[in-house]
Amino acid sequence: MAQKSNFEEIYTFLNEKFSDETEYLQAVHEVLEDIVPIYNANEVYKAFDIVKRICMPERIIYFTVSWMNSEGNVEINQGWRVQHNSAMGPYKGGLRFHHTVNLSVLKFLAFEQCFKNALTGLPMGGGKGGSDFNPKGRSDRDIMLFCQAFMRELQRHIGANTDVPAGDINVGAREIGYLYGEYRRLNNRFEGVLTGKGLEFGGSYVRTEATGFGLVYFLEAVCKQKNTEIEGKTITVSGAGNVALHAALKAVEKGGKVISLSNSRGLLHAAEGFTDKALKWAIDNHANRENVLTDMADKNMGEWVSDKKPWHLKCDIALPCATQNELLEDDAKALLDNGCKMVLEGANMPCTNKAQTLFLDAKIVYVPGKASNAGGVALSGLEMSQNAMFNQRKANVLDDQLYAIMESIHQRCVDEGKSVGDENHYIDYMKGANIAAFRRLADAMVAQGV
Ligand code: GLU
Repeated sequence: MAQKSNFEEIYTFLNEKFSDETEYLQAVHEVLEDIVPIYNANEVYKAFDIVKRICMPERIIYFTVSWMNSEGNVEINQGWRVQHNSAMGPYKGGLRFHHTVNLSVLKFLAFEQCFKNALTGLPMGGGKGGSDFNPKGRSDRDIMLFCQAFMRELQRHIGANTDVPAGDINVGAREIGYLYGEYRRLNNRFEGVLTGKGLEFGGSYVRTEATGFGLVYFLEAVCKQKNTEIEGKTITVSGAGNVALHAALKAVEKGGKVISLSNSRGLLHAAEGFTDKALKWAIDNHANRENVLTDMADKNMGEWVSDKKPWHLKCDIALPCATQNELLEDDAKALLDNGCKMVLEGANMPCTNKAQTLFLDAKIVYVPGKASNAGGVALSGLEMSQNAMFNQRKANVLDDQLYAIMESIHQRCVDEGKSVGDENHYIDYMKGANIAAFRRLADAMVAQGV
């Protein structure tokens, strides 16, 4: 029998064990291709079986959330926390409340989070959690009751030095406030056990903006590298949540023309580009609206197109900021046919494997979310350090720190992703991000033994 390569052996092992966890296998596959050569060349990594261990969560907590809604009816949801790897610091990563949440989705997110957190250079391990509860369209009181019931269970597994959750899709400042209040009541402790808190109770300036702003800071670093600038570029953005809106706002501030936002129901197209006033209105209102984009269309801030995605629009730069696997092979083809030169992910794994391959083969700039959307968790790391010191830094100081962190992540990707001797100076950001993060994580694990 032919000798199997390590890549095949490891992937077959995971594939057999977790065959129904498609998102998890997709995320792992994406990383393995790049890191297995590094692993194969390092006897210590092999002796410690580092790659298999990096792929498997250290612990998964599963619980049922039984709660009574404001009408007195009992509802039952599922809850999870995937504590993936703590070699570099407390488990760190968001909570997602969405009907599509399942173990495979959370395992992929927790796995990605470890690599992302490693790239920030801050002492954070990786985790992710959430529930299949869907807060969209629910009353404020129901959301509070659900958050309290969820935290009653989760609180025994987390702590400022153990596991520090934050927000993710559908978990914003309101939900973090309710979750935090319940933790404090149950534990009688004021500690930085969650990030993304309100400014009055241990939250940090710039945390809300950080993922979207950080994405544009990364884009700026890419542009500098390529001797160009954001000013005058046409940019498509997908999504209509916190990440998409803040990315769009910062891109407009930098002189870009942002022509789209989107959600699962359609697209808001602004042929002349959104104004910063329109985007600020959306930022202030999106959490409380059923469909903030149709409301924007009603205010003449753009044209609403049902059941369409932004990827057929002509643009220089695309920023997918909605959710996993939103950008398919045909979308990638449309972007390339229309001359798109850069794709930077604001969401986690928004491009399918086939879409990624098209971008990489076309040698356009393609930056995976684990690098370009790391600004959110980086600011969470800064919130943790402020909590540990019981202080609150100024917004401009934190914004500068965020900028510096995004530049340093960009540099790490360039150092590991440039091809030696390539006269076109092509940078494979995906390879760069995977290898740079892997080395840090693997070295931390080796140093701590098995
Ligand atoms: N959910 C965000 C992410 O995907 C932030 C996580 C955090 O701040 O812990 O990185």
